[in-house]
Amino acid sequence: MILSLNPTYFCNFRNGKCADTCYLTKTQLSDLRLLKVDEIKARIEELSKAFTLEHIDLYGGEITILPLDYQLELMSYLAALNVSVNIVTNLSKSDSPFITHLPRNFTLSVSWDYEARQSFDKVFERMKNLKNRFSILSLASPEFSQFDPKMILELLMKLPSLQAFEIKPYNQNQSNQYSFGHIDYEELIKKYIIAYKQLKPHFQFVNIDLLEMSLKRTKSSWSDQHLYLTPDNEWSVLEFDQAGNEYFKKLNSIQEYLAWSGREKEVFQLDPHCQNCRHLGHCLSEHLKPIDQFEINGCSGFKNLIDWYEAIGRTL
Ligand code: SF4
Repeated sequence: MILSLNPTYFCNFRNGKCADTCYLTKTQLSDLRLLKVDEIKARIEELSKAFTLEHIDLYGGEITILPLDYQLELMSYLAALNVSVNIVTNLSKSDSPFITHLPRNFTLSVSWDYEARQSFDKVFERMKNLKNRFSILSLASPEFSQFDPKMILELLMKLPSLQAFEIKPYNQNQSNQYSFGHIDYEELIKKYIIAYKQLKPHFQFVNIDLLEMSLKRTKSSWSDQHLYLTPDNEWSVLEFDQAGNEYFKKLNSIQEYLAWSGREKEVFQLDPHCQNCRHLGHCLSEHLKPIDQFEINGCSGFKNLIDWYEAIGRTL
């Protein structure tokens, strides 16, 4: 089981550019509510009774701006668990213990979108000086998609400790609804794969790794192994509302989560496109979205991209 742990939604970049494409609303990004470490412990104990916890993604909001005592208490609790923990940060601060004293079972990911995110140049300089190996997560927003892939990859090649780079799909959500659909994302990733294969950087391009996992059927596209814990101390999953906008759906119990994830499988196994798709259960979706006119819009599992990669991208 993967736990996405959001102790807070509060973010110091809440008034900047990246907030315009963030899946959290401006109200959530300004909310000072903070989950107590004791509440996190109780929830992790509850989760561990039902599942084997394997990995925690820790993010917010912004985790590195929380009170120092809180960061140390949370870090020491998580460090003692027998799981891997990935910290996701905007790297607006480099003196947080989560950056300077990263425990052995922790990894670090920096959210960075070049000019589509404020302070991108200052953060880039901090990334240059990082001693620990780290990853970069970029969001495929309409603005990010305008940047030349070769230029972005050449820039990232100047970061000696960079281990991996991943471009995450943008989903319309309850905070913002840009028109950047599944097919736009597929075309963007194709361009990055072509540029990556030409430049051969020192870091991994995670999107290629995920495509390989899809084709080898080792990637799961179901949500039955991924749960969120919100600052309200509620179990949640990412869901889509009637208008197709992503939001956190609150769940009252682990049993409700099991029922919800079971229903997801039933629904997509009945979808006319999915039931005939050879990638069913292993496509690239992070959480499946009902398909609306596949021929025009594609799908959240990015079938066209998987097929292109298998036929063309893999052998470039
Ligand atoms: S790739 Fe698309 S059509 Fe295939 S199973 Fe996934 S969501 Fe369904």
